[in-house]
Amino acid sequence: MAHADEAAVFNKDEAKVDWHDKALWFVRQKRDKSAHNVKGWENLRDLASAIKANVLSNLDGYLLQFEENAQKNGVTVHWAADAEEHNKIVHSILAKHDVKKVVKSKSMLTEECHLNPYLESHDIEVIDTDLGERIVQLAQEPPSHIVLPAIHKRKEEVDVLFQEHLGTKPCNGDPQYLTSEARKHLRDKFLKADAAITGVNFAVADTGGFVVCTNEGNADMGAHLAKVHIACMGMEKLIPQEKHLGVFLRLLARSATGQPITTYSSHFNKPEPGKEMHIVIVDNGRTEQLSREDFRASLHCIRCGACMNTCPIYRRSGGHSYKATIPGPIGSILSPGIDLKKHSSLPFASTLCGSCSDVCPVKINIHEQLYKWRQVIVKDVPQPVVKKTVLKIAGSVLANSKMYSFVGKSSRFMLKHAPRFLIYSKLNAWGKARDLPEVKNENFDEWYKKRKKNE
Ligand code: SF4
Repeated sequence: MAHADEAAVFNKDEAKVDWHDKALWFVRQKRDKSAHNVKGWENLRDLASAIKANVLSNLDGYLLQFEENAQKNGVTVHWAADAEEHNKIVHSILAKHDVKKVVKSKSMLTEECHLNPYLESHDIEVIDTDLGERIVQLAQEPPSHIVLPAIHKRKEEVDVLFQEHLGTKPCNGDPQYLTSEARKHLRDKFLKADAAITGVNFAVADTGGFVVCTNEGNADMGAHLAKVHIACMGMEKLIPQEKHLGVFLRLLARSATGQPITTYSSHFNKPEPGKEMHIVIVDNGRTEQLSREDFRASLHCIRCGACMNTCPIYRRSGGHSYKATIPGPIGSILSPGIDLKKHSSLPFASTLCGSCSDVCPVKINIHEQLYKWRQVIVKDVPQPVVKKTVLKIAGSVLANSKMYSFVGKSSRFMLKHAPRFLIYSKLNAWGKARDLPEVKNENFDEWYKKRKKNE
């Protein structure tokens, strides 16, 4: 189904839509306050964008430098061309150690590669340890937001879910109780896990180390307790030097949730004695995106989620309506690059208001790229006959001033006199949830001429 149809499903529950909208807008406002408290915020964004542009222009060199330094630190580095290879590599490491239980901290890359079902099909239990991720895992749903995976769920729904899966008592959605029960449940999983999988927020080329940001400390807990740590990273996650972390860490948390910094910014450099550390560097379509001049800047993304929190479409259609690992404005740029036909409706899920570009900490021109994708899609993907015909007619009308004036007059007459059921028919998508504005007797041109005459 196209995004609009999926959104219609979410839109059926109006109260939920309003609550979802407000919850995300609250996060957006926190982001604004936090950003305005940093002197030189715009300079910081410029700097981050320039650093990322430099990384992408010299990606091959930085990747090799990172590999060499990581290997010197005693880390095993693997390369995966696509999701399948990534999953096989992770599985082979786990199989070598006869691992049956894995704890995993939040990683959008492993979601993108569908690692969980792959490992589960090989009899390995995977427990997502980020609370939001664990909630959606228990509900057997994908995350609906990259930073707030369970933002679409009310606390009362979590209450019921925990009763069913964790055996908790009914608590009317008391967050304190639910969190403490989740902590107990996860602690047991951490202690029994044989291996830990984490994502990577930033990989530092000149040290071979990497940083994982969490608010719950779950990445550290997993990695420190298990004998094997596997870190999965997209190849664009590099930064040249450790000093550049100061730029990105200041931007990331403020843009994501309005916090000055994530509660845990954990630095991993080498395995502890007697343990193993692996890094899997994944391409999975990134090289191709890099080769698309109009869209390469989308690889600057540091996955803060700010573009989702501000997007009027995302806030009122929910993350699941995008049917993609990364929803929202940035997902609508990345997903068509992976499968143009499947995701061809996504670049149209935008008002092109530009709010996403305004908040993006690495200054990606998101709305311009969405517009560019639309131009590609109308050329390369067959469009519905109705849409093509209507646009063709509209094109001829708009190109002819006399015709435009005639159609305007007739439409105004129709809108004033036709019965409501005709005006608000299935063809009128605007009128599904709104009344049309009051119809004037004249168009702007006529009004202007009349006004001039009376002056
Ligand atoms: S595109 Fe920009 S705002 Fe959106 S998630 Fe990425 S970094 Fe954040």
